[in-house]
Amino acid sequence: MAEQEDAGRRIQVANARPEDAGRGLARLPLAVMADLGLAEGDVIEIVGKRATPARVVRPYKEDEGLDVLRLDGLQRANAGVGSGDFVQIRKVEPRPAQRVIFAPAQNNLRLQGNPDALKRVFYQRPLTAGDIVATSGQQQVPPGDMPPQLRQMLAAPAYALQEIRLVVVSTLPKGVVHIDADTEVELRAEYEEPRDLRRADVTYDDVGGMAETIDQLREMVELPLRYPELFERLGVDPPKGVLLHGPPGTGKTRLARAVANESEAEFFLINGPEVMGSAYGESEKKLREIFEEAAKAAPSILFIDEIDSIAPKRGQVTGETEKRLVAQLLTLMDGLEPRTNLVVIAATNRPEAIDEALRRPGRFDREIVVGVPDERGRREILGIHTRGMPLAEGVDLTELARMTYGFVGADLAALTREAAIETVRRFMPRLNLEDGIIPPDVLEELSVSREDFMAAIKR
Ligand code: ADP
Repeated sequence: MAEQEDAGRRIQVANARPEDAGRGLARLPLAVMADLGLAEGDVIEIVGKRATPARVVRPYKEDEGLDVLRLDGLQRANAGVGSGDFVQIRKVEPRPAQRVIFAPAQNNLRLQGNPDALKRVFYQRPLTAGDIVATSGQQQVPPGDMPPQLRQMLAAPAYALQEIRLVVVSTLPKGVVHIDADTEVELRAEYEEPRDLRRADVTYDDVGGMAETIDQLREMVELPLRYPELFERLGVDPPKGVLLHGPPGTGKTRLARAVANESEAEFFLINGPEVMGSAYGESEKKLREIFEEAAKAAPSILFIDEIDSIAPKRGQVTGETEKRLVAQLLTLMDGLEPRTNLVVIAATNRPEAIDEALRRPGRFDREIVVGVPDERGRREILGIHTRGMPLAEGVDLTELARMTYGFVGADLAALTREAAIETVRRFMPRLNLEDGIIPPDVLEELSVSREDFMAAIKR
């Protein structure tokens, strides 16, 4: 019914779980589905600052009764919204596309794959021009049959076996379309800059096992950065500094970057040990400069990795450089106006080793522990790093999560890369390196097996 198609509804956006990432889904409460005459599988248009389509599916069990629409990071970017924002949704009928043009959204990647493969990946997926989409799931762009591709694949197998992000450059007809058997799909070789560059990069979908940490950071950092007026109005000063502590490789840097991207804030990074290494007086200058730069670019997040190396307890250090640096950092933190809209996030594995003065109110007065992931966390992280990988039957990520006790995110990322290398090694004899052609049947079969993972774990 035409009237029903036009009737929209306002609803608040929340984050989807990482396992939903890249699938183009809209998880809606059943009551809302009923209100709008929607069945599972129908398509809605989500309108924030921009509009993007998604396919309606049931809510997570624990969401029953909540009035929220769950979207993944790319969809939030496509709709121009963040979690907590309101959007308008309405039912739409996607039209079959005559033609869809994709281009890589990552400029470090040259793609010459077979565009027909994209047809399989995005078959029936509702799309509109400008969307950023990901080749997640089992199906993905085969590396193609060109020699340079083959070389790239062998040099960096993880690339070819990884999720790839693309921009929908244009569609014919315009509007919300879907790809069907008759659609002509073109894959441009050149990079197309996504309109939301930051959010085509890392989002909350890309950090696993950290749902609670993300919630805490959203409250402390994302909300104040996105809605400074709100905090001003309420007369509360948002935190200037947040201390993340946890072992190396647990995703602190990636998390800080995701918060910056989701907050539409600029991201600046200071590496503690690097700053320390500078000549006399240079270290403080560097620190001052980057604080200045970050303040100018606000809203921004300044991430200081390994802060313990530039701000050790003054009583315990003998070096003058350290003492001066701690003092400089204190001055810079104190000099930050609440209105500057700059949040400093510092990471350390040794919170007890940093100068106490830094942890006083108005400085790094919030602390978040980023621990070693538990089994569920490891499962989620493995899911993230195998998103674009064709996985053979028999690969059981839950089993792998169980077997990898003590692994942090960086270890799990390395494990999936190793497994991909095993796969390529296994397929090597079937690749004819002379003429640089990967036979299509080999490509079809190219998938990472349970044995590849087991071999990777043993290393
Ligand atoms: P840290 O800053 O805690 O040392 P990083 O953020 O630099 O850790 O993590 C290094 C790499 O390890 C990341 O780029 C990512 O590939 C992987 N990684 C670490 N933790 C996670 C996580 N929680 N979820 C997904 N990937 C992770």
